[in-house]
Amino acid sequence: MTKAAMKDPKELKQKPPFPAQEQEHPGAESGMQPRADHGESSYRGLGRLKDRVALITGADSGIGRAVALAYAREGADVGIAYLNEHEDANETRRLVEEAGRKAALFPGDLSSDAACKKLVEDAAKAFGRIDILVNNAAEQGKAVESFEELDAERVERAFRVNILSMFHIVRHALPHMKPGSVIINTSSIQAYQPRPEILDYAATKGAIVTFSKGLAKALIGRGIRVNTVAPGPVWTPLVVQSFPANKNAEFGQNSPMERPAQPAELAPAYVFLASDESSYVTGEVLGVTGGKPLG
Ligand code: NAD
Ligand code: MG
Repeated sequence: MTKAAMKDPKELKQKPPFPAQEQEHPGAESGMQPRADHGESSYRGLGRLKDRVALITGADSGIGRAVALAYAREGADVGIAYLNEHEDANETRRLVEEAGRKAALFPGDLSSDAACKKLVEDAAKAFGRIDILVNNAAEQGKAVESFEELDAERVERAFRVNILSMFHIVRHALPHMKPGSVIINTSSIQAYQPRPEILDYAATKGAIVTFSKGLAKALIGRGIRVNTVAPGPVWTPLVVQSFPANKNAEFGQNSPMERPAQPAELAPAYVFLASDESSYVTGEVLGVTGGKPLG
């Protein structure tokens, strides 16, 4: 009998220490050492999202790029929303087009209702409809040393970008979503195990869990499912632009897996929740945490 190719998950991807590094908001994938793995050489599609239209926020880099790549290889066209990282967004576009699917770029700051409305209108114009909406964009400020550093401006911006944008984007997107469509929101292990250094961010991630559970109840009558992915530590620009260089060097070390996830390891959860394989799953939170329990 031939042997199955099996590997210890702890050993599958790079472990810390990483080179000490730090970036400024919003960070660039091209500046990361080592570069992240988005599944470029590994993700194989099975046509599970054939001819569907996906709109993904924060799709230029990190988890969003890995999801865009996987969706395209599963047969979907992809709208790539992002803040202003044009170089990163162009690379995601290249990956989607290389898979033989249509891509469109939508730069813009989603901290206002007007910007969220414009994003949805532009995407609807480009693709005609939205079948899969992935609310994945987020800001995570620099780690603070004391609670008082979380001033009103910073906290209000975190809530505007990370959670209020979800209310707005969903509200504007619904007219373009038919029964069978899905919404997937990105939360975090931070919703359950908040770090004081990024408490503003963690609180928005808790709000996203509650929002998504309630939204699932609100929309199932229209045949739209809503689910949440809660990642643990993932090697992305969001991390290196938030924590100091010495912390980034040991990122993921405290995980039961002794390493962070690579974005490629998140994408299958988003494929599952977008495809008909999860047809009886709604209002659920899927943790991809490397062994840190949610709750
Ligand atoms: P990332 O930096 O690659 O992606 C976040 C993206 O959000 C950015 O690329 C940026 O284009 C976009 N964005 C930021 N501010 C914006 C704004 N004002 N308007 C529009 N777009 C904006 O990092 P990532 O880690 O892949 O983040 C994706 C999601 O995963 C986020 O919701 C994040 O909170 C979540 N998450 C990440 C981790 C982690 O360890 N990396 C852990 C748990 C959850
Ligand atoms: Mg980015």
